[in-house]
Order: sequence, then C-alpha cells, then structure tokens
Amino acid sequence: MDNKLACSANHCVHNMNNLCGAAKVEIKGGGTQSGDNTFCHTYAQKSVKNYFTEMTNLNVVGGITQIFSGHQAMDPQIACDAVNCTFNNNYACGAQELKINGPSATAEQQTECQTFKPKS
Ligand code: SF4
Ligand code: SF4
Repeated sequence: MDNKLACSANHCVHNMNNLCGAAKVEIKGGGTQSGDNTFCHTYAQKSVKNYFTEMTNLNVVGGITQIFSGHQAMDPQIACDAVNCTFNNNYACGAQELKINGPSATAEQQTECQTFKPKS
C-alpha cells in the first residue's frame, strides 16, 4: 500500500517541499504507547555524502511525475515497528495520510510520527 506522507523534517536529504522523496521509509517505535517515542529511521542529514549514499532510495518516477503533473506522486512505502499504533498492520503503516514532524531535527531520533494513535 502507498501512503500519502507529509514531512516537516527539512534537514533530511529526502525532504522535498515538505513531502518525502524516498521510495521506502522505515518508522521506529517498538512497543511505545506514545508518538513522542516514534521516529523516522530513514532520516539522513542533508550533505553531499548523503545525497550520493541515499540515491538508491529515491522515488525517481514519483518525483518526476509530480513535477510535470502537479499531483502528489511521492508516496513512499512505509514499514513501521510501532506495533501499538492503531494503524500498524503487520509492520506496515495502514494510515492513508500521515505526518512526520521534525522541522528542527538534525538526527533521526528528533523526528516523530504525528499520526501515531495508540490502540484502545
Ligand atoms: S525524515 Fe523520513 S519521512 Fe521525512 S523526508 Fe526524511 S526519510 Fe522522508
Ligand atoms: S501512523 Fe502508526 S503505523 Fe503509521 S508510521 Fe506512524 S506510528 Fe507507524
């Protein structure tokens, strides 16, 4: 399933105008009961080195489609181990739209999945 993913972690090499340009994203949270303890493990600080090392995880087709069509086509696959989130479906994220927060993040642990919702 493809998710619509918005992200405010502007210092991440995958961030393009508050959307995620990665093909696959991995969210971590383990057994947490709170979104505060979730983070995007795919975060990579913007740097020349990371532009090259992260190239294999680019959603090239989605990015180009979006540039020419104006429609959101950057919709990475999202794996997630936050098993206590109501949207977690066998280690994949089942939320249709989700938001990763981290405007001042300079490391993966400083990002957070704002869409986390504890199972009731
Ligand atoms: S922090 Fe994660 S969700 Fe946000 S742009 Fe980077 S890889 Fe994508
Ligand atoms: S909404 Fe839930 S399942 Fe989806 S990425 Fe966030 S914490 Fe993981």
